[in-house]
Amino acid sequence: MDSLINRSRPPVFCPGCTHERVVHALDQTLSRMGLAANRVAIVSDIGCSGLFDTFFNTHAMHGLHGRALTYATGLKMANPGLTVIVTMGDGGLGIGGAHLLAACRRNLDLTLLVLNNFNFGMTGGQSSATTPSDALAASGFLNRLEKPLDVCRLVAAAGAPYAARCSGLDKGLAQEIERAVAFEGFAVLDIWGVCTGRYTKRNRLTPAMIRETIDSMPGGGGAIRENQRPEYAAGYAAARAALAPPQPPVEIKARFKPLVRGRHEVVLMGAAGQRIITAGEILAMAAMGAGLQATQKNEYNITVLRGPSISEVIVADAKIGYTGMETPDIILALAQEGVDRRRRSFANLPPGSLVLCAADVALPDCRAQIRRIDFKKRGIRPADRALASLAMLAASQRIVSTPMLMAALKQRFHGQVLASARKTVQRAVER
Ligand code: SF4
Repeated sequence: MDSLINRSRPPVFCPGCTHERVVHALDQTLSRMGLAANRVAIVSDIGCSGLFDTFFNTHAMHGLHGRALTYATGLKMANPGLTVIVTMGDGGLGIGGAHLLAACRRNLDLTLLVLNNFNFGMTGGQSSATTPSDALAASGFLNRLEKPLDVCRLVAAAGAPYAARCSGLDKGLAQEIERAVAFEGFAVLDIWGVCTGRYTKRNRLTPAMIRETIDSMPGGGGAIRENQRPEYAAGYAAARAALAPPQPPVEIKARFKPLVRGRHEVVLMGAAGQRIITAGEILAMAAMGAGLQATQKNEYNITVLRGPSISEVIVADAKIGYTGMETPDIILALAQEGVDRRRRSFANLPPGSLVLCAADVALPDCRAQIRRIDFKKRGIRPADRALASLAMLAASQRIVSTPMLMAALKQRFHGQVLASARKTVQRAVER
């Protein structure tokens, strides 16, 4: 197969830069492997290595510094048939270190070519994650205080099944790249080279020195026996195929006559553990059972069993464009934490509005009609206050009716939970 080099944009680097050799070696690899241009994606990020995707007539993706592996992961998962090759410099590798670790743990069939020239070349020769401690860099003494990363040892420790180290100045570069691309799984090739524009202006680094250092280092020989395991996309596809098909969304048929016209806003103010959000959902479902539109917005803490829990439900006989609360018609004040969180809501309540308020909750001043409820006396647990309040609303034909509420419960709950919810509704309206 012919070269896949983009003739309208031939590679241009500083004279003697190893990157240019890597471009041609990669091209040879792709040709030797017979990979068609439309079956290859080259993914890069920022830096001189980030120019690679523009030099080839393949699919290409170029993104934020250090993030190339994340884009490559998305591409490969969406299209497992693609050969995805990622180029990153040692600068981007350090910046996106967590993505590198994730890729090692995951073992998706990607090839990462690390164009390792021991500095941020494009931005002027600052030290990177692999700059030797004794090197001179444009960023001053910083690298003298840090230990450089050994890419191969790092990725091996993180679970990569393939890690090889090679010189970009050696003759066998194309074969090294081919071995990495042919490997089924995440393959990292740490290609050492010279940045003639920056690094070797201040530091002596010859091809022989690179070869000698590589030969003296442990690891970096390719496949890592202890990290071999099934490739991620294949495992993902198998696990997904074994899952039960997803349930279709619940269809709520309009079986009841609506009780209201226009737009109505209900706020449930309670505490975590009071099933406020579930009650909001039940109210919305009950309204939808009469062909009404409904929206629900919730606010709750990250904590469990502590902190305010709020649910805002809007019910309307027309499309709801704006889902923010303007002037609630009804507030269910079920716990002090919820009321304290939304004290301002009470200031604008119009005279016709209603507050159903638990006996142990103190309310701010407001113009609404207030109905106090002693849930304890009615034998209703704090966790059932929200549902009991809906039952009281329904019994007085506010927003929804009792049959609408019961139908929503039947759709939302089953078995013991449904039986217990029905009991709560009965108890709430008994006296
Ligand atoms: S700055 Fe360094 S890495 Fe960039 S093109 Fe020049 S030699 Fe190559």
